[in-house]
Amino acid sequence: MPTAESAWEACLEVIRDNVSPQCFQTWFTPLEAVALAQDDGISKLTLRVPGPFHYEYLEGQYNLLLRTTLTRVLGEKNRLYYEVVVVQEDIGPRQTQSTYQVPASDSVAHRTPAFQPETTAQPVVKSHLMESHTFDKFVVGDCNQLAYSAARAIADLPGGTAYNPFLVYGGVGLGKTHLIHAIGNHIQNWRSDKSVLYVSSERFTNEFVQAIQEKKVQKFSRYYRKIDVLIIDDVQFFGGKEKTQEEFFCVFNELQQNGNQIVLSADRPPKEIEGIEERLLSRFCWGLQADLQPPDLETRTAILIRKADEIGLDLPPGVVDYIAQNITKNIRELEGALVRLLAQATYTTQAIDESLAKIALKDFIRRPHAILSIDRVQRLVCDYFGIDQSRLHEKTKKREIVQVRQLAMYFCRELDYTHKAIGLQFGGRDHSTVVHAVKSVNNLIETDINYRNRVADIRRKVTLLT
Ligand code: ADP
Ligand code: MG
Repeated sequence: MPTAESAWEACLEVIRDNVSPQCFQTWFTPLEAVALAQDDGISKLTLRVPGPFHYEYLEGQYNLLLRTTLTRVLGEKNRLYYEVVVVQEDIGPRQTQSTYQVPASDSVAHRTPAFQPETTAQPVVKSHLMESHTFDKFVVGDCNQLAYSAARAIADLPGGTAYNPFLVYGGVGLGKTHLIHAIGNHIQNWRSDKSVLYVSSERFTNEFVQAIQEKKVQKFSRYYRKIDVLIIDDVQFFGGKEKTQEEFFCVFNELQQNGNQIVLSADRPPKEIEGIEERLLSRFCWGLQADLQPPDLETRTAILIRKADEIGLDLPPGVVDYIAQNITKNIRELEGALVRLLAQATYTTQAIDESLAKIALKDFIRRPHAILSIDRVQRLVCDYFGIDQSRLHEKTKKREIVQVRQLAMYFCRELDYTHKAIGLQFGGRDHSTVVHAVKSVNNLIETDINYRNRVADIRRKVTLLT
């Protein structure tokens, strides 16, 4: 039997990995384990908390994390108590200190389902899970902390937490599909007695429609009703599909009554899902809903480093910063950026540095236009070839000048200046001259490798200025 201190130390190890250093410092280091007792096979841990506010905050924000952690360290049968310190200012400078005890609210762990379904010895269900989507690969930050903690709790105790159903919601590319797969994968790995099924709401719908056509609705219902952990992705697609909703409603009720775990995802909060019957919507809200927010800078950085590492890519810190600062919408885009960067590096056999990143990711990163003036582009290209900028405006047909002029026009086009605007600033030429210039440059890029390299070289300089 561990001591209170040693058990709490072990808990802190787990907690440290799951919160930011700042949170850890603020909320967890001040806690003190004051007792660990065994009572009727239940391990009871008491933590001393420095004040009522601290207690409220822990209960509000970290109850789940604490409960899950305790379950991991002390086993499923555990209870957590807080000993809250209250300091009272008496009249004058004297203070008195008292404490009161409260049990942590019982949100996870001990609940067992009302009715345990008979476990089929060998589940016959093919799970359709993607093995790569695991908890290990899921980077946790402030943006997804709650959803992640809940998901872990469910994965440790499917059907046995208050989070049933568990609904994860959030915009595209924020990790909903990954997280719900991770739940399934974890259960599959640790609970071979549980049958797990992942299905998109579209597939559920299609299968149901097919079952109707083939008069196999009963078989369909029976199949879904024996699943221990049913994971349905993107439930907003049930919107407007009344018959499917009706069937799903029945499946849902039966699974829930039997204490089987239901995990759902949606691209928006349940209240905003359109075309779904009220009774079903309200059921979605019975358990826990957790949202995934767009990743903050810290999380984006962590994700980039992790993903690069996974594909064996050594990203210089400057490049990580550049991507993390500029690609902010979601995690799928971050992944896309990495793949693009890798492709560019392979294609041009260049080392990955900031200038390559800027070029590779210019489509991902929409910056305001016209940061570089046409004049600036002209100067840059002329400097590159060592000619005087005024020569671009001459009415000469000298090949070397024409080529420089065409290239300068080409880069101005890349910066989205109109043909007309470009023509005007190149000695009042008309729009068709610019069209022709761009075409000539493209031809040369395709046919002359030397030229192509020069263009790439100049483009690097242009992008470094934008
Ligand atoms: P959604 O279902 O919300 O549209 P996905 O789960 O498909 O998003 O996530 C998009 C991509 O980002 C996937 O490749 C996924 O593995 C990855 N991803 C999402 N969240 C994380 C995370 N927290 N850590 C690591 N990878 C993530
Ligand atoms: Mg998805």
